[in-house]
Amino acid sequence: MNQKRVALVTGSTSGIGLAIAKRFIEDGFTIVFHSKSSVETGEQLAQFYPDAAYIRADLSDQKQARDLIAEVLSRYGGLDILVNNAGITKSIPHKDLQAATPEIWREIHEVNVIAPWTLITEAEAALRESSCEEYSSCIINITSHAGIRPKGASIPYAVSKASLNHVTKLLAVSLAPAIRVNAIAPGLVETPMSKGWVAARKLWQERSPMKRGAQPEDIAQIALMLIQSNYLTGEIIIADGGLNLT
Ligand code: NAD
Repeated sequence: MNQKRVALVTGSTSGIGLAIAKRFIEDGFTIVFHSKSSVETGEQLAQFYPDAAYIRADLSDQKQARDLIAEVLSRYGGLDILVNNAGITKSIPHKDLQAATPEIWREIHEVNVIAPWTLITEAEAALRESSCEEYSSCIINITSHAGIRPKGASIPYAVSKASLNHVTKLLAVSLAPAIRVNAIAPGLVETPMSKGWVAARKLWQERSPMKRGAQPEDIAQIALMLIQSNYLTGEIIIADGGLNLT
């Protein structure tokens, strides 16, 4: 049986998820990498890092989400940390209401809200079991500053992240004290998702106090801080380099 603490990071073959997974490995965790489609990268990561695994699952399908947790538990016999990082967006001007169709609302919510809920529900018993005085179990939801302020690639995306922020607070109460639940709400982060966001990059360089968007490693450092704490719960950490202050 694996003796190290186990963390599942969804969407961890690129961007923020990959940076979080690597940071946790440096801190001694066993990582379960996950993605929807980058199987080759996932398998290479699993081979490279000792005890790591890679599991593919399309989180728009709630059965695959349930199976993902079942697979983690059957391989490792437990779970200590769940990072709900996988997410999707669609760029739609906020004034173009017609373009934000019900199909787009459903698609985004399936991955960004319902899948995290399914994963948490399926993992709850295991997270409770592995929690101890020295290390409380942890859920971290990667949301967005768009879930707090009237911003973001589209209204359905922003609302999905606002939902996940509220789920974070509600579950921090429901699952305490065994499981701590926190969120990180990034502004702009330099990842494959934000590659074409030219106006956002300019905005961060010109208006944010830190004068830049975040690197994925900046977000990973906050994630590590959240799991190293044994007290923080229900927090939504806005990681936007101070843009919200200007
Ligand atoms: P990314 O594109 O590198 O990562 C997204 C991950 O989500 C990928 O690994 C992908 O496999 C996974 N994913 C997408 N659809 C999926 C599905 N149906 N099933 C399973 N996995 C799926 O982008 P990123 O920027 O690292 O995004 C990570 C998280 O950070 C997302 O939740 C995103 O909304 C959030 N975020 C990003 C930014 C930014 O500027 N990049 C800002 C705020 C919030």
